[in-house]
Amino acid sequence: MPTKSDDAIRKITFVGLGKMGRPMAMRLIASGFDVTCFDCVPALKAPLVKSGANDADTLSEAVQGADAVITMLPDGNIVRDVMMGQQGAASIMKKGSLLIDMSSSAPIGTRALGKELQELGIAMIDAPVSGGMAKALDGSLAIMVGGEPAQAERARPVLEVMGSNVFHTGRLGSGHAVKALNNFVSAAGLAAACEAVLIAEAFGVDPEILVDVLNASTGRNNSTQVKMKPHVLSGNFASGFALALMSKDIGTAADLAKELEVSNPSLSSLPVLKGQAAIWAQALGELGDQADHTEIFRYLKQSSER
Ligand code: NAD
Repeated sequence: MPTKSDDAIRKITFVGLGKMGRPMAMRLIASGFDVTCFDCVPALKAPLVKSGANDADTLSEAVQGADAVITMLPDGNIVRDVMMGQQGAASIMKKGSLLIDMSSSAPIGTRALGKELQELGIAMIDAPVSGGMAKALDGSLAIMVGGEPAQAERARPVLEVMGSNVFHTGRLGSGHAVKALNNFVSAAGLAAACEAVLIAEAFGVDPEILVDVLNASTGRNNSTQVKMKPHVLSGNFASGFALALMSKDIGTAADLAKELEVSNPSLSSLPVLKGQAAIWAQALGELGDQADHTEIFRYLKQSSER
C-alpha cells in the first residue's frame, strides 16, 4: 500500500502498455496506487481501466497532476519524445514530480534528459528491469536504479511492487548502463548455447541431452535454463522479448564503451562485445523487427549452412 509522507508517490501515470508495461501497471493498480494509463495504441488501456486505472485520451491529460510518470517504452529516443517532443509531457507535469524511466534506454541520453528535466523542476531516475514477462506478472523483476539517493528512496515503495531485487547502481544513467551490460552478457550466453547445439547435433548428440548437461555443469546460464528447451529446441521462439530490443541493448553497451574509450583507451578492443553487437545487428537485418530474440538460433543455423 502506498505510504503517506510529503513527497510520497500516490498518483502514477504509466506510459507504455506493451508486453512488460501492461503487467507492471496491473501490479501497481492491485497494490492500491492511483494509476492512469497511456499508450499510443489506445486499445491497450482497456484491461487496465477495467481493473481500476483512470482513463485518459491524451498524454497531456494522462500526466496532469501525477506525482510520478513511469515510462516503459521501446527506447530512450521515444522516452525523450514523450517528455520533450510535440506531446511534451514535461511541460504538463507538476514541479517536484518524478520521471521513472523503466525502459532500457541509453545512459548518455538519460543523463542529458535528466538535466533538462531538472531545469523544469522535474526529477528523474532510471530504473530498467530484467526478468521478462513472467517476472513482470509476479512482481519479481530485478530493478537497477540510477539517480539521486533521495529520489531512489522516494520511488522504492513503487518499485518494490514490481520487483523483488531493487539495486541502487549509482548516479543517473547507471541503471541503464548496467541493464545494457546485463543484456550483453545474457545475449552472449544465449548465442554460445545456440552454437553449442549446432555443433553437438552435427556430432550426433541429442540437443536435449546437451542442454541437460549444461544445466548440471559450469556452462549453465539463464538461457540454458529458461530459454533453450521451451523456446529454441521446441521451435516456438516465443519468449516475449523482441530480437530488435536485444540488438538495441547490445548496441547501447557498445555505444557506451565507445563513448568511454575517449578517456579510457583500454576500452578500444573489447572483441566479445563488438562481435556480439555485429552478430545481433546482422540477425535483426535478416530476421526483421517481428522476430523473437530466441530466433538468434535460426540466424546462427542459417549462417552455418551458407
Ligand atoms: P513492447 O514493444 O511490447 O511495448 C512498448 C509499448 O510502447 C507499446 O505498447 C507501444 O505502443 C508503446 N509506445 C511506443 N511509442 C509510444 C509513444 N510515443 N507513446 C506512448 N506509447 C508508445 O516492448 P516491451 O517488450 O514491453 O519492452 C518495453 C521496454 O522494456 C523496452 O525498452 C525493452 O527493451 C525493455 N525490456 C523488455 C523485456 C521483455 O522481456 N519484453 C524485458 C526487460 C526489459
